[in-house]
Amino acid sequence: MDLSARLTPVLEAAGAGAKEVDASGAFPDAAVAALRDSGLLGLTLPTDVGGLGGGPEDLVEALSAIAAACGSTAMVYLMHVSAAMAVAAAPPPGQPDLLARLARDTLATLALSEAGSRSHFWAPVSQGQREDGGVRVQARKSWVTSAGYADVYVVSTLTPHDLQANGQGASDLYVVAGSGPGIEVAGPCRGLGLRGNASAPMTFDLVAPEGDRLGQAGGGFDLKLQAVMPWFNLGNAAVSLGLSQAALDAAVGHASGARFQHTGESLAELPTIRAQLARIALDLSCVRAYVVQAARSLAQPDETTTLHVLGVKAVANDAALRITDTAMRVCGGAAFSEHLQLERFFRDARAGHVMAPTADVLYDFYGKAVTGQPLF
Ligand SMILES: Cc1cc2nc3c(=O)[nH]c(=O)nc-3n(C[C@H](O)[C@H](O)[C@H](O)COP(=O)(O)OP(=O)(O)OC[C@H]3O[C@@H](n4cnc5c(N)ncnc54)[C@H](O)[C@@H]3O)c2cc1C
Repeated sequence: MDLSARLTPVLEAAGAGAKEVDASGAFPDAAVAALRDSGLLGLTLPTDVGGLGGGPEDLVEALSAIAAACGSTAMVYLMHVSAAMAVAAAPPPGQPDLLARLARDTLATLALSEAGSRSHFWAPVSQGQREDGGVRVQARKSWVTSAGYADVYVVSTLTPHDLQANGQGASDLYVVAGSGPGIEVAGPCRGLGLRGNASAPMTFDLVAPEGDRLGQAGGGFDLKLQAVMPWFNLGNAAVSLGLSQAALDAAVGHASGARFQHTGESLAELPTIRAQLARIALDLSCVRAYVVQAARSLAQPDETTTLHVLGVKAVANDAALRITDTAMRVCGGAAFSEHLQLERFFRDARAGHVMAPTADVLYDFYGKAVTGQPLF
């Protein structure tokens, strides 16, 4: 598949635009265009629909490299892959060419989180209603990455009461075209980090044909947990890895070059600074090894895979907080200056931790799993 050749132009475009994207909050158009041209929108989709047939380890490689270049681009890409994998798991019968379009050039995202159920993305509170022609989806989504830029949204809502074969609280996922009526970006995106990923609130008020639903009525919960969460958690961990690596590189570069003129020493010649760098380099190595182990487990599932899915995002998100924080400390006042880009990695790294499932929710789930308690 030649992943590194496909990645090169994406990394160039993402790296060239990252500073401006962060400063202005503009969507990374050039990097997303490069992603479309590279074929990487279809990285993990099957080859028979035009995808590249890549696996979890390929996704980790791609996302961590893109995140090191531009965190906003990486998050736009991660949300596309997560939405595309939900579609691949249960293609909507009314849109037979959708997977091929997602593999080619159609940018997708997930519109799951709702103001009413906050980070509990598995539990929408918006209620679908049967209407002539399909199901009315009336939902207020609190955060949607690529809001206003995605070609396709995968939107969750509670299953209409009369279709609730699986009991009350069942939910559905619908594929909604970004160009259709009844879709609005309901507020600005002004985040602390990932400032260009257009994560904004959105409202949906439209009738979705039943043929645009992923899977059977009431199947949304299982799709979110079994099709979305493994790829999203792994990919989100990879973004944390990329941001951590970029922060470490910036800190090592600065500490090695910055000198005290009166002593002739570089920062890196101070034992405390060296030890801090050693700690975060080792921290990153351990976390990278765990992320690779999790990716392998996803590629060849066994009885440990659920734990890997639950653990990988929490571990990498927490490491990114520690590593970017220490890198800032190591670089002193210089870390506040834009030239190191360190403060961007520091801010960008904060997002992964609060993205659902949040790191703290995952620790709780992991604890339940190791003690034999049901997750829900
Ligand atoms: C940059 C960015 C991009 C995003 N993109 C998308 C997107 O594309 N699509 C989408 O659907 N959503 C998206 N989100 C939303 C995200 O997934 C979360 O839903 C959102 O960040 C939750 O924020 P909140 O204030 O509602 O958290 P809250 O739910 O209010 O959480 C507050 C705190 O409570 C903790 N907490 C909550 N429940 C539990 C529990 N059961 N056990 C232990 N601790 C708990 C949390 O860990 C957190 O520390 C995005 C968010 C960000 C920041």
